[in-house]
Amino acid sequence: MSEKPPPNVARQLAQHLESLRNAGVEFVPGATPAEPRPAAPAPPRRLSGPTALPTVIPTLTVPMLQVEALPQDEAQQRIQQLANLAKQVARCVRCPHLASTRTQTVFGVGPLDPDLCFVGEAPGADEDRVGEPFVGAAGQLLTRIMIASGLSREEVFICNILRCRPPGNRTPTPEEAGHCREWLEKTIALVRPRFLVAWGGTAATNLLGTTVGITRLRGKFYDYKGIPVLCTFHPSALFHAPEKKKDVWEDMKTLMARLGRPIPGKA
Ligand code: SF4
Repeated sequence: MSEKPPPNVARQLAQHLESLRNAGVEFVPGATPAEPRPAAPAPPRRLSGPTALPTVIPTLTVPMLQVEALPQDEAQQRIQQLANLAKQVARCVRCPHLASTRTQTVFGVGPLDPDLCFVGEAPGADEDRVGEPFVGAAGQLLTRIMIASGLSREEVFICNILRCRPPGNRTPTPEEAGHCREWLEKTIALVRPRFLVAWGGTAATNLLGTTVGITRLRGKFYDYKGIPVLCTFHPSALFHAPEKKKDVWEDMKTLMARLGRPIPGKA
């Protein structure tokens, strides 16, 4: 008898499979495996040194990829692998202090092959209770930012650097982020987003392996295993520093231009 997947993943699986069934399709859309990632026109600049900026990808507008049908088996296989990964994560006790205080792990939600995967910091109290990332106050602000940018939550895969809530919502330690990195990397590899957005310094520095602060990183594209990464401030930072809202908005405009998608009302 197979083990039940965690609720958030089960919901994603059920929705996805139901939509396949309802549509009666034999294929689902996805990026062509053989199609190369959007390439920069020149080799990216890489600096060295402990505080060096990670690879910067020169700005260019990438047209929407031509999606090509993937065999249903391939999509189902990846969904199953994602569910298996979520079950592994749900049993993870690599950070014993987090495993003993969490209500549940917060794996991530969203579709396969999205244009965007958002990476935040760690679950807070609301996320720990619900089992989904970005559902608290910061998540509601993120939703408003997305809507203003012409995005819906359903089209974006959302996850965090950590899958367990640090008590008191403290910043994850490097050790905790290191423990959880395998889960993050495997998730991104299975989800296959076109672009990543690192929300906040914890996401940016851990994803890119740099010590450079978010104020310097924001607004530019970097590279994570061939996937362009845009860094910007975490929505929760906007509660304490509302002057950063204009920076986040500029970053969203940069992102949407790179995606080749218009900002509502600006087309
Ligand atoms: S934070 Fe990640 S590595 Fe640490 S116990 Fe939770 S799932 Fe495991």
